[in-house]
Amino acid sequence: MKKALLIIVMAAVAAAVVFWGRPKADKPEPVQKETRFLMDTYVSIQVPGDPQAIKTIEKAFDRMEEVDRKFNVLNPESPLYRFNHDNAPIADPEILALLATALEISEESGGAFDVTVYPLVDLWGFFRGAPAVPASPDIAACLKKVGWRQLRIENGVLAKPNDGVKIDLGAIAKGYAVGEAVKVLKGAGVTSALIDAGGDIFAIGELRGRPWKVGIRNPRGEGVMGALDVSDLTIVTSGDYERFFEKDGVRYHHILDPASGYPAGGLMSVTVICDDATRADGLSTALFVLGPEKGMELVERLDGVEAIMVTKDQKILTSSGLKGAMDAAGAPMAENPFVAIGR
Ligand code: ADP
Ligand code: MG
Repeated sequence: MKKALLIIVMAAVAAAVVFWGRPKADKPEPVQKETRFLMDTYVSIQVPGDPQAIKTIEKAFDRMEEVDRKFNVLNPESPLYRFNHDNAPIADPEILALLATALEISEESGGAFDVTVYPLVDLWGFFRGAPAVPASPDIAACLKKVGWRQLRIENGVLAKPNDGVKIDLGAIAKGYAVGEAVKVLKGAGVTSALIDAGGDIFAIGELRGRPWKVGIRNPRGEGVMGALDVSDLTIVTSGDYERFFEKDGVRYHHILDPASGYPAGGLMSVTVICDDATRADGLSTALFVLGPEKGMELVERLDGVEAIMVTKDQKILTSSGLKGAMDAAGAPMAENPFVAIGR
């Protein structure tokens, strides 16, 4: 039997990004909060109560910045950069551990999640800031370099199977960084905090005795379309609205299907809810590529993982652990009472 998560669903949801607390009308407790720009997004950490907590928040940010430097494929100092550009083997245990988790998700998702997509992401121009649709023979040639099964960690080292292979842990590193920040906060005795890393959120404990309320962004348009009450859970969203361009009325985004070489169709966003930020990040990307049917099949096989999807035709799908509380599931977004934009 698949184990369900303890989640109170307040309304139909789809892409977690925004959150809000419930300030007490009479005497609001102070909240320590800091925001930094890292991993290509604004990250905020807030801890209610103790003013001293700001020091712990800074330590958590420092740790996230360390992770960012190590895993950023565009940083020439990163072992990943040297692997990709100079064919230098990787022996860094932290990178190999995250790679091992990534490979597990590749296995689980039948290759929908694949860290060897780097050459494809590069060909589409998503690393360079001026993306464009590549010629199809170029995509076909690029696909020959892609394939996670080529990667093998032997005796604590990842060596290149051939020079063409390049890796990108971008689809899982942000979740890992969030998980590391959680460790720093908890290690310092913090029992209530919210980390929001633009689409990757972790709620530690509760806010003033009640679960954290995490708002959910509509993948098309501004505002909040619903909310989840969560405690000690991560809510991670992958969407086609994060990085994309349009050509001849078609939207091309940054999550690529390693089977076709093109952006994955089928979904606008996937939100994963579980207690492990690293896995949630990897899985949200994997499910996005798998699409609604195969994606939900995978979620139903995994313990302690729930998901919410918004399909290309704007239907909200939820995994079985969220059913019942989700009476809007399956309804077209336009007719969904919970999908009141900007309410
Ligand atoms: P974001 O980083 O925007 O929150 P994701 O976590 O879904 O979104 O990661 C997307 C990034 O992962 C892309 O920018 C790309 O570098 C990489 N990527 C794209 N397609 C795949 C894939 N099929 N498997 C693994 N990584 C991918
Ligand atoms: Mg991801």
